[in-house]
Amino acid sequence: MVSRVFLVSGLTAVAAAAQSQIPVVSLADGAKCGCTQLSATYGNLTLFDNSTDYSTEIINFWDIRSDLSPHCIFQPETAAQVADAVKIFSSCGTQFAIRGGGHMNYPGANNINGGVLLTLNGLAETKVDEKASTIEVGPGCKWVDVYGALAPYGLYTIGGRMKTIGVPGLSLIGGFHYLINKYGYTMDNILGYEVVLGNGTQVTANAKSNPELFWSLKGGANNFGVVTKFLFKAYHIPQVSTSIHIYNESAITDFIQATVDLNNNNGPEIGAGAFITISYNATTKAVSATFFGVQEGTESPPSRFAGFAKIPSVSTIHNVTTPKQWHSQLETPNQMFRIQFGHHTMKPDAKQVNRIYQGWKKAVDSLSDVQGLQPTLALNIMPKSSMSVAKHNGIGNTWGLDDCDNLLIWQFATGWANADDDLRVTNWAKSLLEYWHEDTKARGLASEFLYMGDSGEFQDPFSSYPVANVNRLLKARANYDPLGVFSRLNWGGFKLPA
Ligand SMILES: Cc1cc2nc3c(=O)[nH]c(=O)nc-3n(C[C@H](O)[C@H](O)[C@H](O)COP(=O)(O)OP(=O)(O)OC[C@H]3O[C@@H](n4cnc5c(N)ncnc54)[C@H](O)[C@@H]3O)c2cc1C
Repeated sequence: MVSRVFLVSGLTAVAAAAQSQIPVVSLADGAKCGCTQLSATYGNLTLFDNSTDYSTEIINFWDIRSDLSPHCIFQPETAAQVADAVKIFSSCGTQFAIRGGGHMNYPGANNINGGVLLTLNGLAETKVDEKASTIEVGPGCKWVDVYGALAPYGLYTIGGRMKTIGVPGLSLIGGFHYLINKYGYTMDNILGYEVVLGNGTQVTANAKSNPELFWSLKGGANNFGVVTKFLFKAYHIPQVSTSIHIYNESAITDFIQATVDLNNNNGPEIGAGAFITISYNATTKAVSATFFGVQEGTESPPSRFAGFAKIPSVSTIHNVTTPKQWHSQLETPNQMFRIQFGHHTMKPDAKQVNRIYQGWKKAVDSLSDVQGLQPTLALNIMPKSSMSVAKHNGIGNTWGLDDCDNLLIWQFATGWANADDDLRVTNWAKSLLEYWHEDTKARGLASEFLYMGDSGEFQDPFSSYPVANVNRLLKARANYDPLGVFSRLNWGGFKLPA
């Protein structure tokens, strides 16, 4: 269980501590007030643009488009300092952004021009309880830190698939891991949260204490507070069996069929899943498909991926390794490109995925003059058993997805080099996504579900949640953030409607 003693528990105390209102001031005045107060108390933790640390921090983002110019950066090292900062923000009317691992890829999601950037790098502790099979994790951790801390105990948890994705952002939006078919999504494996609310009070949310906040944080993103600690369930999985396959264009039809087959035949008997992408070079016209599969245990090659193993590949590597070792090699460096995500969801159907692939490839040709173009079509499988976990764990999650159908996310991730092409690429992605979603809908194969981790800034994942769940989230927000600190002052990222 989360070890910190609750400072405040329950709505009455929260409401009592609330201020009456947030002052309405300009962005510049709010930032000046907030930064002056922070630097008076925490001079060494408050960075201004005359420091080299500030220059390092403002490019500590994955997408170059996220590099903005905050008035100051506050780098707390304790939850109490986060609480002080949030109190200052609400009393000054300071607009602010929160950054965990910095991977949410659009401007404003995790940074702010002229306001205060609250970075969480300084809260990067982990604490394993081997007996309880749990791990406490600070929001400054990357997933590789978590897998590294669990490794000596032969434990593993359900987090991000790549090495350096941040723990907090991924955990608050849902979380796709390889083994979701057996263990559900990251949010379904969180037993407790410590949270700084908009009035600066610190609360614990778990099944017994603040249960509505507990449920709301399972997919409700950054609408409720700053999470200063997560408590994850861990599993005894000392080794995983992995396969990496790389294919060329001649394999694409079989590759898509194998993806759909895995999606449709991936029951919860054994945890297994993959990271599946197709990339296309509009200059050389080369197509490359990659499959990174992970199955729990030591059976090698992993039986669940037999459909991929039989397709002739350019290269294939099977290995049995530790989770820590596997994740350590999966680099996604910061500042490689400007990049636009966008996606939709469908029932797995190989013919339709093939149509989308052909349509995407043709459309990419129309961008061939864009400098630094790096287009990828990613396929995220969602076997129905991954949705069953929340249906049967007595808590559920905010997605509210049924477990009667397997689902498949098709995502366009488009990288490019120059700011001059921002609007062009975004418009291109938007219209292409909507065209293929409508086509998929017309064939009776579409789902409206949108995942925040794969969304473009022009998409609204909350509109794809059941209306009853959105209403429940709005009620929880009204109770836990009556002043609207996490909607009016912290407005970036995916927000519930006003
Ligand atoms: C290369 C790459 C690989 C990815 N792989 C996966 C994957 O395998 N599985 C998957 O599910 N998703 C994946 N994603 C999507 C990823 O989950 C999201 O981008 C996620 O937001 C990243 O978390 P972060 O902490 O790095 O993000 P940040 O950008 O730091 O934060 C994301 C959002 O959460 C808010 N936030 C951050 N910390 C807190 C906090 N402590 N309290 C309240 N709000 C907070 C921020 O304000 C921001 O709005 C991937 C993304 C990229 C770019």
